[in-house]
Amino acid sequence: MSEKILLSHGAGGGASQRLIDDLFMKKLGNELLLQKNDATVLPELPGRIAMSTDSFVIQPIFFKGGDIGKLAVCGTVNDLAVQGAEPKFLTLGLIIEEGFLFSDLERIVGSIADTCAQAGVKIVAGDTKVVNRGQADGIYINTTGVGYVPRGRQVGGSLAKPGDVVIINGGIGEHGMAVMSQRSGIDWETDLVSDCAPLNGLITEIFKVTPNVHVMRDPTRGGVATTLNEIAGQSGVGIKLVEADLPISQGVLGACEMLGFDPLYVANEGKVLVIVPAAESEEVLAAMRRHPLGKKSAVIGEVVAEHPGMVTLRTAFGGERILDMMEGELLPRIC
Ligand code: MG
Repeated sequence: MSEKILLSHGAGGGASQRLIDDLFMKKLGNELLLQKNDATVLPELPGRIAMSTDSFVIQPIFFKGGDIGKLAVCGTVNDLAVQGAEPKFLTLGLIIEEGFLFSDLERIVGSIADTCAQAGVKIVAGDTKVVNRGQADGIYINTTGVGYVPRGRQVGGSLAKPGDVVIINGGIGEHGMAVMSQRSGIDWETDLVSDCAPLNGLITEIFKVTPNVHVMRDPTRGGVATTLNEIAGQSGVGIKLVEADLPISQGVLGACEMLGFDPLYVANEGKVLVIVPAAESEEVLAAMRRHPLGKKSAVIGEVVAEHPGMVTLRTAFGGERILDMMEGELLPRIC
């Protein structure tokens, strides 16, 4: 195998076949991928089918806590999981720039395999295209995921109700600030690591203690503030956050200050906002804290009938400020 990716690796001939056999099949192969037909026929699933797709163009491709491959699996797995679905299958589409290092591709595919194993999902179809040098920036990845929603789960952005509480499973802004500090060259001063992780295991633990989860959403681009604004709008409720209760690490606070960001608008890739009735909150919180990805889970606010569609923050000084939706693109190519 040559040490760089060539146009022929995406052309469907012998070089493509060797790339498939020697890399993709070796690392990602399973009985479904081995069908090797034009389409993969999936086994029946015990519930309504959920589907999601996302494309990943992050720069840098390798960052502290992950890489574009891990992110491409986590992003789609998490979008299925926050809808109450059990993620099962993923497709993998790669667009690679001619000249990309084979060793980098190997590393990315290895991390896709590891993350699939961690999340309990299988790659069941794939495609690779190689474009001329200069026509892409290294590598772009698309994943589409399929899962099923077990009977009795009803989660959606329009289901938040006054009297619910808002829980998050840990520190805010860690993915965005890890990437931004690396990109701006201040990462030597910080020990920021992306929180990128598949959340389906944690979410399964929540459903074990109650089916009564109203809303779940992963606060990716636009961060916690933008995601909660979407939910407040969809549900026609107000959401009040308490600044003193927000779990934000000193590292994230420091990097945000240095680079001029508000952590509430910074992307997360391993966080979920969970909105449940107050009566369920203690059990849900305890279940989340038992999971490795939820040790720092905290209640950060409540759903109210006042100011529908609006999110407010009670500041450390006792004032109240409105948290708007993010306007424009704060952090380009963060995922
Ligand atoms: Mg999402």
